[in-house]
Amino acid sequence: MRVRTDVPALSRLFDYAVPDTWTDDVIVGTRVRVALHGRRVGGWVVDDDVTPPEGVEPLPLKGWSGWGPPAPVIDLAEWAAWRWAGPVSFFLGVASPLRPVRRLPAVPGGAGRAGDSALANAFDEMVAQAIREGAVGEGTSTVLRIPPTTDLIDLVLSVVTAPQIVGRPGSVVVLVPSVGWAERLCGRLVRRSYRATTDWAAARAGWPIVVGSRAAAWAPLPQVSAALVLDAHDEAYKEESAPTYSAVDVGTERARRAGSPCIVTSPCPSTVLRAGRAEHLLPVTAERAGWSAVERVDRRGADPRTGMFSEEFVRLARTVLDDPDGVARRGPLVCFYDRTGRARLLACAHCGELAQCTTCGAAVAQHGTGLRCPRCGSERPLVCAACGKLRMKTVRVGVSRLREELAALLGSEVGEVSGPAVARSAGRAASGSVGGGAGGPSGGPSGGPSGGDGIPATPVLVGTEAVLHRVRRAAAVVFLDIDLHLLAPRFSATDETLALLARASRMVGPRHTGPAWARLLLQTRVPDHPVLEAVARGDLSEVAEGEEAMRRSARLPPFSALASLTGPLAAGYADALREAGVGTGVTLSELPDGGYLAQAQDHGALCDLLASVPRPGGRGLRVAVDPAAI
Ligand SMILES: [Zn+2]
Ligand SMILES: [Zn+2]
Repeated sequence: MRVRTDVPALSRLFDYAVPDTWTDDVIVGTRVRVALHGRRVGGWVVDDDVTPPEGVEPLPLKGWSGWGPPAPVIDLAEWAAWRWAGPVSFFLGVASPLRPVRRLPAVPGGAGRAGDSALANAFDEMVAQAIREGAVGEGTSTVLRIPPTTDLIDLVLSVVTAPQIVGRPGSVVVLVPSVGWAERLCGRLVRRSYRATTDWAAARAGWPIVVGSRAAAWAPLPQVSAALVLDAHDEAYKEESAPTYSAVDVGTERARRAGSPCIVTSPCPSTVLRAGRAEHLLPVTAERAGWSAVERVDRRGADPRTGMFSEEFVRLARTVLDDPDGVARRGPLVCFYDRTGRARLLACAHCGELAQCTTCGAAVAQHGTGLRCPRCGSERPLVCAACGKLRMKTVRVGVSRLREELAALLGSEVGEVSGPAVARSAGRAASGSVGGGAGGPSGGPSGGPSGGDGIPATPVLVGTEAVLHRVRRAAAVVFLDIDLHLLAPRFSATDETLALLARASRMVGPRHTGPAWARLLLQTRVPDHPVLEAVARGDLSEVAEGEEAMRRSARLPPFSALASLTGPLAAGYADALREAGVGTGVTLSELPDGGYLAQAQDHGALCDLLASVPRPGGRGLRVAVDPAAI
């Protein structure tokens, strides 16, 4: 038996013999304990057909630790180790159960109601297009742009009952961004008599439908008949610490290797998500109807004494709070304000026009006697683009008093929701769930099905991004300053802003169905910004085209592949890469906040180079392939 140990720094494989006395199965994936240099370590069998070299008598395995991932997942981990420049054992850990699984449950026959013809729904045609008869078996990948307020269970049902998928051997894996969502979705499927599970052992046994969050991309299904990723734009799919793998990419590669279709959905698919995938849209009217109503409030001429709160905002708040059915039936009035890591805004002291970069649109900062763009580096003179005046002022608010000011203004109780956005521990669920081996042992379940974890029961809530992650329903959502996000000094500003607006839209519900006041209210000094136009119209096509053109000309992903190198040893490693990378087209540059950026034509060149240059041991270097926030 060839064994990969769980010692991350050790990439070598070792051979062992199965003791004659063992009665448990030892196959590829089985978790074992072995003796290594006088100590015992854990590991996985990665090859069960090994002939040891002549004269070598392998040591016996020391312990049997139960079932592990199946052979295709072992191979997938090898690929992921290359793709995200991390240890194979890390990925095998994510794919393994937290506690030993010694026995697998018996698999029920069939997917439950799968194949029931009475289930036709609005997505059947879209799904059929995505998995055309001829394309099944080729591992095609599709992105469906579906507006945010859609109940995606119809889509899930459409996929698990599609005749082309029912006819294939294996299980359907469904990924969602959070553990809470996975539990709710699995519960709804089970109540409708579908054989769905979030359990590791059931998945390993080959349950027909497996649901989970990020780490479930590694669910131990022996065979995948289709992969479905809901809300694929959600940043929770991406592991934050290195190796910075994306569950969307893992799920896609996994389906491709199995020759099975992969369908990802998003209300706002990014250029990266659209690359290499066929895109299917709903009819314009259906997409539009699935976004919330949007009101933009132009703050350019705002009297500074009215602070953060426009007349339009106060009017909306009063209407919602005065309606006896408002907060009670629809949820609180949510006010969102988050300036961490966001744009610093300069506005014309005369007319209130924001100072933006003429090349990329980001908010610019004063630099010497001129203006400089922190996103793309363009410079221009310090002149208002609207009125030609020369004086700028910083747009500033005291955040600490926001809650008090709001309470006084509305004469209502106001609760605050801040802190981490919760979803970051998406890899973890109850200890028996798929992907239970990911992350640290303290990362318990989060965002339970009720969603009511510690949120103040006040009619008005104000908060940072956490308020959009932890509150599930809202009468209306107010972005007190959407410009902080729209004009943030990062190329991902548009993708991030759209994700926030989609999330808020889902909290409020579709336009034309609720009370007239149910809406997103966006306070802005750039009311005609294409992103705001698109969301107000409920049609993202133009923004998507603009983003793609910008990324192509700036040679950003998906038109290149990036890795960031940070930490005290980054400079030395960057030098080594530069030297080894001559002729490969990989370039290295310094990042403004420290560290280095490696840029290549594609992941082939980038990951081959990273794999070929040995890395210093220890914690002095972090390599993040596909870094977020560039
Ligand atoms: Zn001006
Ligand atoms: Zn710029």
